[in-house]
Amino acid sequence: MCAMEKPMAYGIEIPHAKPAKPLFDGLFSAVVPCKDEEEMIPIFYAEFVSAFKATGSENFEIIFVEDGSTDTTMSEIKKLSAKDGRVRYISFSRNFGKEAAMYAGLKAAKGDFVAIMDADLQDPPDLLPEMFSLISDCDCVAAARVNRAAEPPVRSFCANAFYKALNYFSPFKFRDGARDFRLMRRRVVDEILRLDEYNRFTKGIFEWVGFKTKWIEFENRARPAGRTKWTFAQLMVYSLEAFTSFSTLPLAFAAVLGLGFCAFSALAIVFVSIRQLLFHNSAFGWTSMVCILFFLSGLQLFCLGVLGQYMSKIYLETKRRPHYVVESTNIEDFR
Ligand code: UDP
Ligand code: MG
Repeated sequence: MCAMEKPMAYGIEIPHAKPAKPLFDGLFSAVVPCKDEEEMIPIFYAEFVSAFKATGSENFEIIFVEDGSTDTTMSEIKKLSAKDGRVRYISFSRNFGKEAAMYAGLKAAKGDFVAIMDADLQDPPDLLPEMFSLISDCDCVAAARVNRAAEPPVRSFCANAFYKALNYFSPFKFRDGARDFRLMRRRVVDEILRLDEYNRFTKGIFEWVGFKTKWIEFENRARPAGRTKWTFAQLMVYSLEAFTSFSTLPLAFAAVLGLGFCAFSALAIVFVSIRQLLFHNSAFGWTSMVCILFFLSGLQLFCLGVLGQYMSKIYLETKRRPHYVVESTNIEDFR
């Protein structure tokens, strides 16, 4: 299914027609994690308010979760909240990461319908009317981009490889191009909040809680301003998180690999001993010996690393530290 196109006339965008009757009843909460998005905050707000009119409702709240920005993001948000009471904010005491920001935003959201949306408009607000019209007979409407245009080819290649491997290892099927952007009913959000683990991988949590989900597809959009906050190293760490959060299969994989090599080395020992008994030429084969040694030590380190990943998670979970620390907020009773 294709996303609604913005109506165009003579190359000029015209706003969506307001439906006769609102597409939903109740309050909608948009959770917007933002770090260093000073340019994007006013653009996001203007675009969101204009696109939301097409739902026929004005009943929304925008929860900006400011995640330790070093620029003027927070004063931009405060300017908006002074102008529009529907703009709420939570400001963290430092950068805790997008996962923590999404968790805080979902906790603060009071809406009957909730969606997580990036501040850079890569989760286009103009998809919301179509999402609302689809949610009538399901609990979630999720958005997936059909292409990765406007993204460096290396990153697209790595992302494709990552999703293939993740789907192989994980009990859940992750859709390539799926975003954190999905319209959810209140009961889905309540279930998500019951999973208060420290090591969060929200895309996995969505799959874990289940519920009937419909998908809509859209063409990837470039950021209008600012730049991506993810470095390659951060993406690697995020990928490891994805692998180990929802599957213990890598542990089994390490064990099976270890067993396989034990069997192989047993055969090799028999072969080498017989050769020595018959030909007495043990100096021969030094090169292969060194190769095997290197390979096996590498393999052992790999398996140790897999174990280490799980151990570090247990370590962090057992500390029971909060996911974030709030510096300021205009949401009553929020901690
Ligand atoms: N973000 C955040 N904390 C971070 C990094 C990013 O809240 O530590 C926000 C960011 O401001 C944006 C969203 O998460 O609203 C997605 O980030 P970005 O656009 O940099 O990621 P990309 O689209 O490149 O994957
Ligand atoms: Mg982005």
